[in-house]
Amino acid sequence: MDNENQRYIEYFQRQLAPEGSDAFWKGRKVWFEENRVELSEQLHSLSKSDGDRLQTLATSILKHEDQGEYDSFFAKEIFEPLVEIALDICKKNKIELKNPVKFVNSPGLDPSPVALASSAEHLLFAGQGTFSFCNYWSKVFSSAIAEVAELPEEERNSPEAIVQKLLQGNVIMDAARLSLRYAHSGSLVGFGRMAQDDDLTAFRTLLVNAMEIFAIGHEIGHFLAHEDYPETSGIRPGQDAKSHELECDAIGLAISTEYGVRNKNPFAFQLIGPLLLFYALHTCERVKSILVDEEPILSDSHPTHEERFSHTLNFLSKVGASKDVMEGVHFTLEVALCVGSQVQVIAQKLKTHTNGE
Ligand SMILES: [Zn+2]
Repeated sequence: MDNENQRYIEYFQRQLAPEGSDAFWKGRKVWFEENRVELSEQLHSLSKSDGDRLQTLATSILKHEDQGEYDSFFAKEIFEPLVEIALDICKKNKIELKNPVKFVNSPGLDPSPVALASSAEHLLFAGQGTFSFCNYWSKVFSSAIAEVAELPEEERNSPEAIVQKLLQGNVIMDAARLSLRYAHSGSLVGFGRMAQDDDLTAFRTLLVNAMEIFAIGHEIGHFLAHEDYPETSGIRPGQDAKSHELECDAIGLAISTEYGVRNKNPFAFQLIGPLLLFYALHTCERVKSILVDEEPILSDSHPTHEERFSHTLNFLSKVGASKDVMEGVHFTLEVALCVGSQVQVIAQKLKTHTNGE
C-alpha cells in the first residue's frame, strides 16, 4: 500500500479513537507482540489435523505485520473474511458493488462499525468495539438459552419458570454487569473475563458470527446506496435518513440469511444474531436511562434499537420464515426478554438504593 493511502486511513482511524485510548491500544499491541509465539504454539497443539482452521490461525499470528499504528491482527482475522463473504453474497445476488471495499481496524470503542464510502475504494472500519460487544452478549444469551433448555418442556414457555431458572445461575448478574458497564462508558472494550462453560463455545461462536455478519452487512448496505446516490450519502429521493438506515438493515438481514445458509449458521439464517444484538443494545440503553433518570433523546436520523428490532421481526415474517423457525425465534426472544427485564429490575433497585430511599 502506498504511503499516502496509509496516511489517509490513519487519519480516519485517529478520528475514531477516543481521547485517552492510545495507551490502551498500545498496551494491546505490546501484549500481542509478547504473546504471539506462545499463542501460536498453543493453537498448534490444539489443532487436530494439518491445515485446519487452528493451524492456519497459528501460522498467521506469526506472519502478521501491522499496517500502521492502529492495525489489529484480531480485528482482521474476524472481520476480513466476513467482508469477503458479504461481498460475494452481493455479487451472486446481482447487487454487486462497483468499487472495492477495504477492511480497516477501528480503534473506536463503540459497538457499531463505520462505513466510509468513496468513489474509489470504500473503507469499512470495525474492531474490538464491535467484537467485544457481540462476544460478551453472546456469552450471556447462549448461557441463558442453554440453562432454560434444561427446564422440562412444559415450563419453557412460562416467563416465571424461565426467570426462576435463570436466577439460579450467574447469567442475570453477568448481563447486569455488562449493561452497567455500557451505561457508564458506552462500550464493553476492556470489560475483562467472563467465565463460561467450554461446552458452550461452539454455540456462542455461531451467535457472535451471526451478530457480526449482520453488522458488516448493514455497512455494505451503506456502500451500495452511496454508489447509487453519492450526492446525498446514499439517501434516495423522497427517503429520510431513518428509513435509509432501515433499508441498510434490510441489506444486512438479507446477507445474514444467506450467510446462515452457506455457513450452516442457524442464528444468522433465523436472524437471531441481529435480533439479539438490537435487544442487547436496547437493554443497555434502558439501563442507562434508568440510572441517569432520563429518557434517551429520539433521533430524527437514526431508528431506535427497538424500531430496528421490530423491523427485523417484520422482515423475518415477510420472507416467509417457516413455523419451526418462528417458534425457535420466539423461544430465544422469550429467554432474552426475561434476561433484559431482570437486568432492568436490578438497575431500578440500584437506582433506588443510591438515592437513599
Ligand atoms: Zn447505518
